[in-house]
Amino acid sequence: MQEKDRAICLRCVNYSETSQVVTLLTRRHGKIACMAKGSKRSKSATDGPIEPFSFGPVVFSTPKGEGLAVLSEFSQESRFRPLRQNLFALNCGLLTAELIESFTENSDPHEGLFDATVSFLDTVQNRSRQNFQLADLIGFELTLLNEIGVGLVTQWCANCSTAFSNRWKYAYFSNEVNGLVCPGCESSFVDKTRLDVAAAAGLSQTENLKKLPLTVLETLHKAMLNHFTALLHRPPKLASFFLSQ
Ligand SMILES: [Zn+2]
Repeated sequence: MQEKDRAICLRCVNYSETSQVVTLLTRRHGKIACMAKGSKRSKSATDGPIEPFSFGPVVFSTPKGEGLAVLSEFSQESRFRPLRQNLFALNCGLLTAELIESFTENSDPHEGLFDATVSFLDTVQNRSRQNFQLADLIGFELTLLNEIGVGLVTQWCANCSTAFSNRWKYAYFSNEVNGLVCPGCESSFVDKTRLDVAAAAGLSQTENLKKLPLTVLETLHKAMLNHFTALLHRPPKLASFFLSQ
């Protein structure tokens, strides 16, 4: 059966001289892996080769059992072309594409995640300051964790449930309890990252992230990458770019 949807490309692999296998995040059908026959020809039904962040309406048919869907049309729009001119924004986008691919199941729709991804890429590609880009990225990562049902505990201590307060001397982040840990509980946790209270305030209220200086955001993002590494049992491929900044 032919399905119509809007899609953003998360990843593509060359299959032959002229064809690609592409992983798409669609709005209503979730993530799908598609065979795009002849997509690398300049006059193709996919408007030429598909790249990460290719975006627009798609037509595809789903297989009966396991196997690849067949992409028959992709009307590519130029919406995310500015990403290519901005290396840091591009890497932010590539990390989110990798995380979405790793943490979502095929054919499991997440309309909220699709909308958040489009909105994040729209914003990040038009920013020129790295601190705002990193704040956007952390905000998106928190949304992703919420969407896949493993949202972080950021409003109170994940161990004793004391409400988070700006009066805490420091806050701690522990992968083990999936969120913030208060100064009174931190000694019980071996694996933890110490955060400035301002950084923890950014996690509990994402509007605060944009007020944080770059160095504080970098520490916070390292904690996020560490958390994704724990969830995936390996570091995200794009982590090395951010850790070498
Ligand atoms: Zn506590």
